[in-house]
Amino acid sequence: MFLTFIGATGTVTGSKTLVEAGGGRFLLDCGLFQGPRDIRAHNWEPFPVPPGDLASTILSHAHLDHCGYLPALERAGFTGPVYCSPNTAELVPIILRDSARLQEEDTAFARKKGFSRHAQPRPLYGAADAERAIALLAPVEFGADFHPAAGVTAHLDPGGHILGSSITTITDDATGRCVVFSGDLGRGNHPLLRPPAPPSSANAIVVESTYGDREHEDVEQQIDAMAAAITRTLKRGGSVVIPAFAVDRTEVLLKALRSLQDQQRIPVAPIHVDSPMALAGLHVYRQAIADADPEINSATVAEGADAIWLPNVHEATTPEQSMALDRGGARIIVSASGMGSGGRVTHHLKALLPDRDNTVLLVGYQAVGTPGRMLADGAHEIKIHGQYVAVRAEVVQIEAFSVHADASELIDWLRSSRTKPTQVFVNHGEPEASHALANRIRQEWDVAVIVPQAGERIYV
Ligand SMILES: [Zn+2]
Repeated sequence: MFLTFIGATGTVTGSKTLVEAGGGRFLLDCGLFQGPRDIRAHNWEPFPVPPGDLASTILSHAHLDHCGYLPALERAGFTGPVYCSPNTAELVPIILRDSARLQEEDTAFARKKGFSRHAQPRPLYGAADAERAIALLAPVEFGADFHPAAGVTAHLDPGGHILGSSITTITDDATGRCVVFSGDLGRGNHPLLRPPAPPSSANAIVVESTYGDREHEDVEQQIDAMAAAITRTLKRGGSVVIPAFAVDRTEVLLKALRSLQDQQRIPVAPIHVDSPMALAGLHVYRQAIADADPEINSATVAEGADAIWLPNVHEATTPEQSMALDRGGARIIVSASGMGSGGRVTHHLKALLPDRDNTVLLVGYQAVGTPGRMLADGAHEIKIHGQYVAVRAEVVQIEAFSVHADASELIDWLRSSRTKPTQVFVNHGEPEASHALANRIRQEWDVAVIVPQAGERIYV
């Protein structure tokens, strides 16, 4: 079996690994590159193998950086199937439709305002491409065997990162050689989900390293900081803008806001969920909770679907409702994207950043080069839609809502394997994070640890 790391090397986006096993080749994840222009440019490069030759694709979960390239792959000749867990198959259509719409809107906006470097900017893919990709989804239950290529058997286990997220085990039937992919790995204490399953015994494990050089801080302390920031902003009549990944982060955030409000630790103010994608995702999560889906933890099942809902939540579905929020005033706005790099939240940032009364609350990982990272790093101005905007609003960053395991949790997960693999591959991290994790694994587990290069082909 050979692995070629096509994306998520030296970066957290563009996850794609080519697997050659049995008699064929297939992809593990098909993510979009996001963030700065030089990273996004990879989305436009020709695919390294003819997409029509791929026997299938397996998706670890529904985040855009793991599934968002699928419509482009389909357009280039890939014919499916796309294996994933049932909840991932519910969420991927929401993500891909939104991605296609955003790309079409951003392209139209760039064309109208003329700030693109291209005379005739075009989207990477559009709505029709997304629909054809969605039609390829082939859900498989956790633990059930499937065959991503002839002579290869695979199964998925819960990854505890977002609803539907999976750890993937792939075995070459002829040789018995086995590789496990962590996908994005969740934490033991996700507010809604059960913890990740341990890795199967394997010859090799591919592990993510988003937080490979960090330990998460005390959650309670961070929630206190968030409550304080929200309270002082609302009291001075300002808006709290929370850029949030539409799927999972919005749900986790609403659960926290609900308990802060119930405990009277924040004032009651309108909470606007301003992302059609987030609202669609919320519906899937509420349904999973109501159905007591096996991925949902027992405490959340006991609370019921209202665990992630509040009477003062307002849905902003139309662009007009969204634009009305830019007038400011004491309210909380939860809007995608999570790193401020696209979507409706960019308009809110542009309108609300120049006013000292407002606060931007960063609750997730902010990749290098994104507006969110620049705000976290203390930028005085940031560029949005080709124009610089003064940053006078308060910027508060908390990591309490991270749904990625930290360094110790990643190591604990590796060590929960019954047998030691001969090779561990560390991907899906910025270089410092990947190398820091690789060093710790070497020291604590005594195995060969590799941070693969982009395009590197390795025998496992
Ligand atoms: Zn993810």
